[in-house]
Amino acid sequence: MADIQSVAVIGAGTMGSGIAHVFARSGFPVSLCDVEQRFLDRALASIRTNLSREAAKGKLAEAEIEPTLTRISTTIDRESLATAQLAVEAAPERFELKAEVFAALDRILPPTAILATNTSSISITKMAALTRRPSQVIGMHFFNPVPVMALVEVVRGMTTSEATFAAVRDLSVKLGKTPVEVNDAPGFVSNRVLMPLINEAAFAVMEGVAKPEAVDQVFKLGMAHPMGPLTLADFIGIDVCVDILRVLQEGFGDPKYRPCPLLVRMVDAGWLGRKSGRGFYSYEK
Ligand code: NAD
Repeated sequence: MADIQSVAVIGAGTMGSGIAHVFARSGFPVSLCDVEQRFLDRALASIRTNLSREAAKGKLAEAEIEPTLTRISTTIDRESLATAQLAVEAAPERFELKAEVFAALDRILPPTAILATNTSSISITKMAALTRRPSQVIGMHFFNPVPVMALVEVVRGMTTSEATFAAVRDLSVKLGKTPVEVNDAPGFVSNRVLMPLINEAAFAVMEGVAKPEAVDQVFKLGMAHPMGPLTLADFIGIDVCVDILRVLQEGFGDPKYRPCPLLVRMVDAGWLGRKSGRGFYSYEK
């Protein structure tokens, strides 16, 4: 198994930029890869802002900002990732797209390298079967915002080796995260448990049991959740919630995961949560 000294992060969006941030902050050289330079420039700008925010809060020395940024190189040429000992794929959640990326990484990276995916719902076992190194494929599921959230769900596929699991678990600790071991199943643990909660909260609103504010208050004040399920749904994206519920419904073949019609109607209306300015709540300025 490769001693992980350098890391490739594929996809420089919300998650990929956060993942590059935490690796670089922990001293790892990171090669951040996307399909266009402008996405990489945007990612570097947001990492700079987030590092400055950490420095302002006293979580990082001001003098560490520039060296951390220097550890991140950007590329639109996947072939340049040939020396990475770990790839963390954070491309959009579409199987065909991830399959193409994984096949390329399998061809380009050294045979000892580990291929990890940040997928929220796609089967790790299925991704592993696309490669010539199924024992070195694993889920490394970070949470948004990556520099802030402590959890990494480390997902073992059916063919993931003990050595791969141990390497990724230990690496997560080096990043200052808490790894939690789970097995490959639709939604892993996080989304399998969270999405039915959000879905049931939406049913309660649709059926007139309570207003969104009341549902959220119940969870904040009664269960000590930092935010209620509907505020969280707006944060995640209503479209993302519906997509994950469909993955659960299909993966388990169980109608209990059917998306609440209110969520589906909200997506049809373009009420996607914070990112569109309106979801269960309004975010318009
Ligand atoms: P995003 O849309 O913000 O970013 C995806 C990035 O991948 C974009 O910059 C895009 O240009 C790039 N990309 C597209 N095709 C590519 C390719 N062929 N090669 C390299 N880069 C490519 O998406 P995101 O929210 O960062 O999600 C990424 C992954 O992380 C998904 O699998 C998602 O399910 C998972 N995830 C997301 C969250 C979240 O809260 N957003 C949380 C946990 C896991």
